[in-house]
Amino acid sequence: MPMCIRCGRETSILIDGRLCPDCFLDLYGFGVAPKRLEVTVCPRCGSYKFQGRWFPSSGDLEDVVALVFQAAFKPNEYTEYYRVETVDIDYENEKAIVTVVGKLRGDDKERSMTYAVDLRIKKQLCPVCMRKASGAPTAIIQVRSHNGRLGSEERLLVEELLADLDSGLQEAIISTNEVKEGLDINLLDQNIARVIANRFRSKLGALIKESHKLITQRRDGKRVTRLTLSVRLPFFTPGALIDYKGGLARVEEIDKGYVIIRLLGTNKYKRLRVEEAWKTLQKPKHIERSNVVIAALEPGWIHLQETSGAYNYIEIPKRDVLVEGSIKPGTEATLIKYNNKYYIVGKNN
Ligand SMILES: [Zn+2]
Ligand SMILES: [Zn+2]
Repeated sequence: MPMCIRCGRETSILIDGRLCPDCFLDLYGFGVAPKRLEVTVCPRCGSYKFQGRWFPSSGDLEDVVALVFQAAFKPNEYTEYYRVETVDIDYENEKAIVTVVGKLRGDDKERSMTYAVDLRIKKQLCPVCMRKASGAPTAIIQVRSHNGRLGSEERLLVEELLADLDSGLQEAIISTNEVKEGLDINLLDQNIARVIANRFRSKLGALIKESHKLITQRRDGKRVTRLTLSVRLPFFTPGALIDYKGGLARVEEIDKGYVIIRLLGTNKYKRLRVEEAWKTLQKPKHIERSNVVIAALEPGWIHLQETSGAYNYIEIPKRDVLVEGSIKPGTEATLIKYNNKYYIVGKNN
C-alpha cells in the first residue's frame, strides 16, 4: 500500500504521487484564492460591476461575490473541477467566507475547502440610476471665485480637493459641470453636500452660503427642496500679501477653517477664523514695490538705492519702516510702500 509522506497514512490514492487527498488539500487547496476581492455595487438598484461592465443584480451580494471569487480563483493542476458552494459575508470584519467544493484528479469523491478572503464593497451609482438621479439633484454646490470667474489655479485647487475626497463622499456626486462662472457640483445628498462644502471652507478658506429652493410639492404634500451651497473662494491664498487693519500681512496657511497670517516685517502671527478673515482681510490697494540695495545705515535713517525703475536714492526714517531679516550696506532687498509705511523684505518678494 502506498503511504502519504506527510501523515504516514496508508492510502490507495496519492494525489501528486506523495500526498493523500486530505494532506494535499491542507497544503494546496484546490488552487490559489484571491487575497482580496473588490465588489462594486449600485446602492440604489443592487446591480454590480464586474470586469468593467455593469450587470443587473441577481438579488444577493453573496452571488456577486461568488462570481467575482470564481473569476479570480486559480485552480492548481491537480484540480479536476471545482465550484463555489456557499458564500457568507462577514460585514463586520470585511471578509467573505467562501466554501469551495471540488474534486482532485484521481480522488474518489468531492471534498470541500473554506477560504476567508478580504472583501471590500464599493458603492457606486450604476449608469442607469445615475441617469435617473441626474434629473433631480437634491443639492448643488456652486464653486465660484471671489471675483467672479474661476482662474486656472483655483480650478486646480478645486480639482485636487475633489480628488482627495474619500469614495463615500465622491459617490454622492452625480455630476460636475463647468459653467461660465465656475463649477457646479450636483449631488444626491444634502448632508454630504454640506460636508464637501465645508472642506472648501476648512482647506481653502471659502465662504459658504446656504439657500433652499422649493422644486415641487408632491401630491402627498411632501415638499421637495433643493439645497444650494454657494462656495466662494477667497483672494487671500497662501503666499498672498493682504491688508490687515491697514498694514500688510502675508497669508501663511489655511487649515482646519483658520487663516494664519504673518504681519509683514515682524514675526507676529494672527489666526483668524475663515469668516473673520473674510470680514477683516482686504485686498491691498496700490502697493508700490521696488528693487533696492541698502546704501547706508545711519542711526534713525536707512539709505537705499533703487536698482531698477527710476533709480531713485531714498532716505527713510527708521520709525516708518519694518525690516524682515537683517540688512547691512550692500544687501539687496525689495522695498514695499503701502499706506505710508515702508517694508523692506527679501529680494524678489
Ligand atoms: Zn496525508
Ligand atoms: Zn443602479
